[in-house]
Amino acid sequence: MSLPQFRLLRPRAVDEAVAFLSKHANNIRVLAGGTDLIPSMRQKLFEPEYVLDLRGIGDLRGIRPQTSGAVEIGALTALSAIEKSPYLRQHFPVLTEAAATVASPVLRNMGTLGGNICLDTRCLWYNQSLTWRKGCGFCIKKDGDLCHVAPGGTKCWAAFSGDTPPALLCLNGKIEIAGPTGMRRIPLEEFYTGDGENYRKLLPTELVTRVFLPAESADYRGVYRKLRVRGSIDYPLAGVAVVMKRSNGHVADARIAMTAVNPAPVLVRRAGEMLIGRIVDDALAEAAGDVAARTSKPLTTSALTPEYRREMIRVFTKRAVLAAACN
Ligand SMILES: Cc1cc2nc3c(=O)[nH]c(=O)nc-3n(C[C@H](O)[C@H](O)[C@H](O)COP(=O)(O)OP(=O)(O)OC[C@H]3O[C@@H](n4cnc5c(N)ncnc54)[C@H](O)[C@@H]3O)c2cc1C
Ligand code: SF4
Repeated sequence: MSLPQFRLLRPRAVDEAVAFLSKHANNIRVLAGGTDLIPSMRQKLFEPEYVLDLRGIGDLRGIRPQTSGAVEIGALTALSAIEKSPYLRQHFPVLTEAAATVASPVLRNMGTLGGNICLDTRCLWYNQSLTWRKGCGFCIKKDGDLCHVAPGGTKCWAAFSGDTPPALLCLNGKIEIAGPTGMRRIPLEEFYTGDGENYRKLLPTELVTRVFLPAESADYRGVYRKLRVRGSIDYPLAGVAVVMKRSNGHVADARIAMTAVNPAPVLVRRAGEMLIGRIVDDALAEAAGDVAARTSKPLTTSALTPEYRREMIRVFTKRAVLAAACN
């Protein structure tokens, strides 16, 4: 599968990148590590005339702890840098754990946090070559007008399949977005639409520049559990992140989020809240798993059945809650 022809643009600063985006708005794609974009371009899912390579913008790389206890992470920071950061491992362990499960070491060296947040949604009927898609019939997400997964519907149910966003949701992460009118900062939770086709609220003239984790989210115990087909190198087909703070054996605060079972990563508020003030035992962890499983909406977007993936959300939530409680 050859790459389509494109012109490569290499800005050195954010405002230069935004100017390129504004100039070529509907005919350009942003490239960070390229670990998802390039295979997708080979499959002819995207055939932009321009590719905007962000890698020359040094400002967007790095982990910067603030004196307040908060931390700022540049969108271009490699997942391997996050995985190996002693600071993040000590204060925001759920993020290092989630980053360490992405793909393989080589892909984590190339892949970035911003790319993981902006990752396209995935579906068995979509992440295929042009020949395959032509043979089986195009669908709403690309070139067609029907959905093979939910026939008769008008919505795309492709699953958001990034590993770090559920961890960032548990940490109440915010992202900075740069565009022609300047910078804006929004909670990550508001970034996703829940629609597999137009899955993120990002204008074609905008890019994600930074991630912020607040001081209040530091020093929570954190656990991430993930289901994948190939243990050494694969996207999640169900993933659960849990953070927890305890006091005198009781849960003082807890948050639970999941990925790969909905068109957006989801913070399961009720599952976290039901733990607060309680001592974690098997029954309580199981009850949290039930709530998470009921919130998940996996469909036949992958080779594993929706029933199995939903069941694994229940199992992983239970295990992650128990692990966070005795960490
Ligand atoms: C074999 C294989 C296995 C994989 N396994 C996993 C896995 O287990 N878990 C997982 O989460 N991912 C997995 N991935 C996907 C990918 O490697 C990661 O998600 C990675 O973090 C993507 O980051 P990137 O910098 O390479 O993004 P890119 O490929 O450069 O970009 C991904 C998307 O985000 C957009 N984008 C990138 N950065 C920005 C930005 N700053 N602002 C706006 N838009 C932006 C791009 O335009 C593109 O649409 C896998 C990929 C492969 C090939
Ligand atoms: S969920 Fe439906 S519309 Fe979306 S990619 Fe899959 S088949 Fe296509």
